[in-house]
Amino acid sequence: MIAVRSTEIRRDFPLLKDIIYFDSAATSLSPEPVIHAMNEYERLYRANVGRGVHRLTSLASQKYHNAHQKVARFIGAGEGTTVLTKNTTEAINMVACGLSWKKGDTVVTTAMEHHSNFLPWMRLRDRGVRTEVVVPQADGTFDLSAFELAINDSTRLVALSHASNVLGTVLPVKEIAGICKEHGARLLVDGAQSAPHLPVSIKDIGCDYFCFSGHKMLGPTGTGILWMKDDDIDPLLVGGGMIESVSAESYTLAAGYQRYEAGTPHIAGMIGLGRAVEYLEGAGMDSVRRHEEHLTGKLLTGLASMEHVRIYGPTDNTERIGVVSFNIEGMHPHEVSHILDEAAAIMTRSGEHCCQPLMHHMGIPGGTVRVSLYLYNTAEEIDLLLDTLAEITRRL
Ligand code: PMP
Repeated sequence: MIAVRSTEIRRDFPLLKDIIYFDSAATSLSPEPVIHAMNEYERLYRANVGRGVHRLTSLASQKYHNAHQKVARFIGAGEGTTVLTKNTTEAINMVACGLSWKKGDTVVTTAMEHHSNFLPWMRLRDRGVRTEVVVPQADGTFDLSAFELAINDSTRLVALSHASNVLGTVLPVKEIAGICKEHGARLLVDGAQSAPHLPVSIKDIGCDYFCFSGHKMLGPTGTGILWMKDDDIDPLLVGGGMIESVSAESYTLAAGYQRYEAGTPHIAGMIGLGRAVEYLEGAGMDSVRRHEEHLTGKLLTGLASMEHVRIYGPTDNTERIGVVSFNIEGMHPHEVSHILDEAAAIMTRSGEHCCQPLMHHMGIPGGTVRVSLYLYNTAEEIDLLLDTLAEITRRL
């Protein structure tokens, strides 16, 4: 059963009038209420936040503060600190740069990671930190036994995605969190592809850091989130808006999220993000998940029935998100993506998806075509995609 009423929801997304949008894993579209919330800030109460007492700054500060609370509620973060960032990349780098590392510390990560959850750990090699990289199984699923061999008591941090942006694989993060605890390692979960699509409860997962992007969950670009259990990292930036007191000799940092948000933030964007969270809650994350599962199943079945098409990642749509990578024999992914746009205004992503280590591991340096789904996509759109692909493969 499909609970999300995508036909009604679609009216809220102005861009969907003329195109089919299958690139939500890169960035999602924003609905009218989010655009409206941002406009309202610009038109009615634009002012800086956390500074001064006049009526506009008071209103802006309240709304900005509320955005933090809405985001924390969305991921079931009963406690901890929810910091608003530019994107997932910034959130992960804040942890990588903010922890005090010592020579011999180890970070365990995977070959499935987006570069944003790979390069920050590679860069620490200069400081004597070692990285262990766990490769996925042949079917694209997480290799729990290989992970158990890689982690040990010198592992300081485990950093991995909740869901892969190439294969769609959902990782068993709760089980992983339990193993991390046994070894005294902290766990950072890159939730860029999970929080927008699955009901997420931080409390249930039991991780230490959870990073995700507002712009992939109907929010404006330039918005992201770092949630952390304890305020145990140094701020990346210091300056205005993040101190309790400053003298010529010393300074004291503010408590809570303010400590990590130096300088004027993307206020309109974060207010829009708060509205995006409400929009998703209105649709219901269980329904969003079910809707995407249904469409993913349809897409996988259709692709599997086509000659010359190779699909990557788990075949069971209940064990993956609505991100489906594939290739057509003898064609470069960019060529396929270009034809889909030209022939039927279908937007797909092609290339390496910022996952070169995974592409090398899979032996496909040119990358894949990626279709990524969201609550506004429909079964009719999947049919049109499959028909267009069938036409392309017939010509081979
Ligand atoms: N991690 C994953 C799994 C992603 O899919 C992405 C975005 N493609 C990122 C990190 C980086 O997100 P952002 O560009 O918002 O920093």
